[in-house]
Amino acid sequence: MTVKTRFAPSPTGFLHVGGARTALYSWLHARHAKGEFVLRIEDTDLERSTQEAIDAIMEGMEWLGLTWDEGPYYQTKRFDRYKELIAKLEDEGKAYKCTCSRERLDALREEQMANGEKPQYDGKCRDLNLQDIEGDYVVRFRNPTEGSVVFDDYVRGRIEFQNTELDDLIILRSDGSPTYNFCVVVDDWDMGITQVVRGEDHVNNTPRQINILKALGAPVPEYAHVAMILGDDGAKLSKRHGAVGVMQYRDDGYLPEALLNYLVRLGWSHGDQEIFSIEEMIELFKLGDINKAASAFNTEKLLWLNQHYIKNSDPKYVAKHLEWHMQDQNIDTTNGPALEDIVVALSERAQTLKELAASSRYFYEDYQEFDAAAAKKHLRPVAKAPLELVQSKLAAITDWTAENIQAAIAATAEELELGMGKVGMPLRVAATGAGQSPSLDVTLLHIGQSRSVERINKAVNFIADRENS
Ligand code: GLU
Repeated sequence: MTVKTRFAPSPTGFLHVGGARTALYSWLHARHAKGEFVLRIEDTDLERSTQEAIDAIMEGMEWLGLTWDEGPYYQTKRFDRYKELIAKLEDEGKAYKCTCSRERLDALREEQMANGEKPQYDGKCRDLNLQDIEGDYVVRFRNPTEGSVVFDDYVRGRIEFQNTELDDLIILRSDGSPTYNFCVVVDDWDMGITQVVRGEDHVNNTPRQINILKALGAPVPEYAHVAMILGDDGAKLSKRHGAVGVMQYRDDGYLPEALLNYLVRLGWSHGDQEIFSIEEMIELFKLGDINKAASAFNTEKLLWLNQHYIKNSDPKYVAKHLEWHMQDQNIDTTNGPALEDIVVALSERAQTLKELAASSRYFYEDYQEFDAAAAKKHLRPVAKAPLELVQSKLAAITDWTAENIQAAIAATAEELELGMGKVGMPLRVAATGAGQSPSLDVTLLHIGQSRSVERINKAVNFIADRENS
């Protein structure tokens, strides 16, 4: 049997890290088994579902590279199918119409709660065989009253629910719309889903869904209920912890590989390995190795992984992602070095692409002002002579290479009998406007010859102005 998994988000918000991790695990299981992965949009809650959320979920999946082989399916387009099966269950006596009023159900609930009982439907209409009803009714699933439902969860092991704990679930609302648990069951069956990977908040739905599957004569898939993600304070991860949609991680300068690597390890492990390429994840991932305990989100670790991928991925690839940030920060890259050169030059120094973009601005645009502290410290009268000398040597270079730039700086220091720092620091501030940059030869190489020479003028003038004021 072909392995087929699915990700089935309700489109009520963006794709957050919890959903992305569930999607990743489901996707990895399918890819590992050379099976198929389905995207299904569970949009039956018409009030809370939005097109914007659907778009955001798909954008997030695409950015992460979690490609789907089938879908997106939309539950709202499958109402006829659900209704057909509800009618079939009714014909077979496996579901029944119920006319109990809201008032009655509320009163029943209150009474049960007052008696310390679990609130449940009491089955009043179960054997009335109500037909041709005028007015409102719902359809309920006739849940078995005896025995238990048992399933072996990949994550949580053997789980058993007594049927007496499960009441007769509404499967068709009075407005004619099928309910969530019923739609999921029909979809998982029709779509041939073999493993259901989802959040543990759905564990209580599973025995109900299994009973419905059995009533329909459908095979029961296997289940993996994944524990939740906690914030670093131990509470369920929420917006308060800065938990946001995955696209926010793009905006903040993360590479998708870093987020995927982070998410795969957040609740799954393979020995003590931390770094996993996508290929390795696919090869090594097993649903049975998912941790049972909840895991806490750790931004420091995510940053560490991000830097790892910025440093170790193909610079061409990183450059493609960096381009987005350059545009986002309005840095016009038409005049200046190739982005992949910038990645190579700056990757040691940046934890995010956002930072990397911001610190590369001087390669493409002239800085407006010197960083005050750097200028105060390094653009002093004593720096004027070395700046002028190094400027003339740089201007005379015929082949603008890192070696020749380095030689010009070294010759300046030697001629003036100065330490390299006495030449290098003023030159750095002159070239970049600030006190930090990659090594000077590489920095000047990428800034370019004429720009470097011009910028030294600016620094010399700054020193002169300072002397005169
Ligand atoms: N639509 C459900 C959710 O977003 C998932 C249901 C399922 O995976 O079975 O939580």
